[in-house]
Amino acid sequence: MNKECLQKTLSLSDSKINLLESFMDDVLLANEKFNLTAITDKEDFREKMIYDSAIILNDFDFTNRKIIDIGTGAGFPGMVIRMLVDNVDISLLDSTSKKINFLKEIGAKYDLNCKFYISRAEELSRNNREVFDVVTARAVSSLNTLLELSMPLLKVGGCLLAFKGPSVQAEINDCKEAFKKLNCEVEKCFNYTLPNSKEIRNILLIRKNDITNKKYPRDYAEILRKPL
Ligand code: SAH
Repeated sequence: MNKECLQKTLSLSDSKINLLESFMDDVLLANEKFNLTAITDKEDFREKMIYDSAIILNDFDFTNRKIIDIGTGAGFPGMVIRMLVDNVDISLLDSTSKKINFLKEIGAKYDLNCKFYISRAEELSRNNREVFDVVTARAVSSLNTLLELSMPLLKVGGCLLAFKGPSVQAEINDCKEAFKKLNCEVEKCFNYTLPNSKEIRNILLIRKNDITNKKYPRDYAEILRKPL
């Protein structure tokens, strides 16, 4: 995907597309020093990192919401959303300090107001319980693990946007118990086809219907050993 195509498909102003292009260059440059992404070709990067993170903006309004992107890595989708939505309170969380330190530099360079956390999601929810409107997560663990990590962070009525690949139905089927125990349900599935590669993406909107039992999230080892 070239720059013009990305700008047109997302209906971006010149300043927004230039910001995203510059961010891409920053990620690719930093990637030469430490591993941030496996995708290093610019055409692929625009489609599989940027477009993939931003296409949800056509269907979901983040304005004035309090959001946390868990396992943000080099800022996907969280930093892309921060760059494209003006009034949004966004926190970027990753357990790897070099990734969050890189994002802090990006925030300072482009004067973007974000909060940054070097922490595991299950640890952050001890002091930040039921405070976010939206959790986003792209390519972070299986759905049932992700539900246990994210539901404690969300307010009742808030939602998780889980960025997934082509096959989501099997994962949803595996989560029946998790949905019950964590008082949440799949409300919608947004389905997209990437314009060039034609790869399929699904973004699940999972609504939190009621308060989360204090016993969740369990320790990470326990979550992995005994998935809900
Ligand atoms: N969302 C990014 C990165 C995906 S890789 C993207 O789509 O490109 C998964 C990331 O999640 C890694 O950076 C890893 O450090 C982080 N991660 C995995 N489990 C986590 C947890 N429990 N808490 C915080 N970060 C986690």
